[in-house]
Amino acid sequence: MTRALVTGVTGQDGGYLAERLLAEGCEVHGLVHAGDAHADALRARCPEVTLHEGDLTDESSLERVVAAAEPDEVYNLAGISSVAFSWQEPVLTADVTALGVARLLAVLSRRRPDARFVQASSAEIFGDAEVAPQDESTPLRPTSPYGVAKVFAHQLVGVHRAQGMHAVSAILYNHESPRRPPTFVTRKITQTVARIARGQESELVLGNLEARRDWGWAPDYVDALLRAARADEPADYVVATGEAHSVREFALAAFARVGIEDGESRIRVDPALVRPSDPSLLVGDATKARKELGWAPTVSFEELVGRMVDADL
Ligand code: GDP
Repeated sequence: MTRALVTGVTGQDGGYLAERLLAEGCEVHGLVHAGDAHADALRARCPEVTLHEGDLTDESSLERVVAAAEPDEVYNLAGISSVAFSWQEPVLTADVTALGVARLLAVLSRRRPDARFVQASSAEIFGDAEVAPQDESTPLRPTSPYGVAKVFAHQLVGVHRAQGMHAVSAILYNHESPRRPPTFVTRKITQTVARIARGQESELVLGNLEARRDWGWAPDYVDALLRAARADEPADYVVATGEAHSVREFALAAFARVGIEDGESRIRVDPALVRPSDPSLLVGDATKARKELGWAPTVSFEELVGRMVDADL
């Protein structure tokens, strides 16, 4: 039986991944930090997951968890996941999202050198990219503390791979679902639009409406992580739909889903929500994942918006 350790198991992707691994008959271990507000929800949804308390900022806790779980596969989904928050807490972001991976890889090198390691990397490593779409060879130009931390982790995975570890970096573009927290713009939009449709709210307040993202369906991205873990050879993979849409388009599609055709008039821009810098053209070319992993996205942009709005309604 395959033994898997998932960090960030209480997050959006962690939950979908735990469900997939359990369905396949794997033994699933999850890392949770003390006081994790979402641990009870995960226990209720996936009681078969063995939860271990630990923290990416504490190497001895990782040592203990890895010794107990003896994982064959390790999925690192933990980290400060908000670009906006990384501007408020750049040091914490570096400690968890960058150094946390250094600690985890150091522990695995000592205790489970044959384990397969999958890093949830991010399109934010490309940041202010000079080309679109980006692929695995695109130069890294992060534009936020989060992006810089993810670059460190990404390159450290490459260094361990060069030393013979089965270490994979999946460069995930934005991926959404009804489980996405409302700190992210997609869920904020679908929650607010559902409230507007119910007459509980009157306007949708947003930041940069022109920001464009390559938004996919989170369970598809979890599927890519599994395929990457089990590929014969470890490598980096861009995981993306290849289609970019603006925040405005997302909002208008959400309004259209609830029958509001003049959505534009319900949107107000608050300059306080506009970020100090924003990557403008993040769209990924997942040709390598398609060819080598047999991966493909299964949910269109309209369907993604629709599923999220319907769930919030
Ligand atoms: P990110 O790509 O990981 O930063 O995901 P987000 O969902 O937080 O942000 C996606 C894009 O939406 C960014 O370019 C933001 O600047 C833009 N955006 C515009 N208005 C908002 C808002 O009200 N909240 C958030 N979170 N993002 C917004």
